[in-house]
Amino acid sequence: MDALPGIVIAGASGRMGRMLIGTVLASDKARLAAAIQRPGHDWIGRDVGECLGGAPVGVKVTDDPLEAFAKARAVIDFTTPAATVEFAALAAQARLVHVIGTTGLEPEHLAKIDAAARHAVIVRAGNMSLGVNLLVTLTRKVAAALDADWDIEVIEAHHNKKVDAPSGTALMLGQAAAEGRGVDLDTMRDSGRDGITGARRPGAIGFSAIRGGDIVGEHDVLFAGAGERIVLRHIATDRAIFARGALKAALWGQDKGPGAYDMMDVLGL
Ligand code: NAP
Repeated sequence: MDALPGIVIAGASGRMGRMLIGTVLASDKARLAAAIQRPGHDWIGRDVGECLGGAPVGVKVTDDPLEAFAKARAVIDFTTPAATVEFAALAAQARLVHVIGTTGLEPEHLAKIDAAARHAVIVRAGNMSLGVNLLVTLTRKVAAALDADWDIEVIEAHHNKKVDAPSGTALMLGQAAAEGRGVDLDTMRDSGRDGITGARRPGAIGFSAIRGGDIVGEHDVLFAGAGERIVLRHIATDRAIFARGALKAALWGQDKGPGAYDMMDVLGL
């Protein structure tokens, strides 16, 4: 096997998949081992470099995850919850590091991913960027420092193709605020205001989602007090930040024992 760790990109034709392929091809620390698309996709059997409009890179797109995983040391997966659960079981069988960026995972998906993490390294994060993970740490600290009469709102904006809300990042930020304040997010979460809602529930952690155009991802955590407001903000302008974080996680996981990790572990935050 080549000395550089081989990386499989799942969901090769997606917005993140394309970015991840470019990131791995440009890296001198990893090589592109395989690219996966769903059965029936018109990229199957074609060179992935040509699919992306460039020169051939010697890797044909496949719809067979097992064949792809046999050639690699990690899979980076920004796909859908159903596909991610399937890849988690197969990656655990093949003892591959599985980096999961997919969001919108429900408790039944997470239970299956946790089961796979008993046998392999899984790094999962709703946001793979350094900036957002720092923002999570700051949010936890600010929430811990402020009294509960400061209202906390997480406001996020994304492109018009995004299918889930609140975003995975918004939920990470809400979770950090809840931890800082010492409350349970599921109990305090308020994400569906419409119509005559009544006054704001004391202590609630609110979520609002904006969808439009090609917005890559913007997140504000608003702490609103009597007479003053604090806003912590992250703006992503380039998906490359997520791809670089995911590749870093895939390489970081190479010498770790089986378990469920996140970007805080990878970044040492
Ligand atoms: P996208 O453009 O829709 O890409 C998803 C890709 O996955 C598509 O190419 C899709 O193929 C493919 N796919 C679906 N099922 C598959 C299967 N069974 N086998 C192989 N490929 C399959 O979406 P995106 O914008 O790249 O985002 C993907 C996910 O990553 C979303 O959950 C998003 O929220 C998340 N995300 C996370 C981060 C982070 O930092 N954690 C950052 C950005 C995005 P088809 O087109 O044929 O369906």
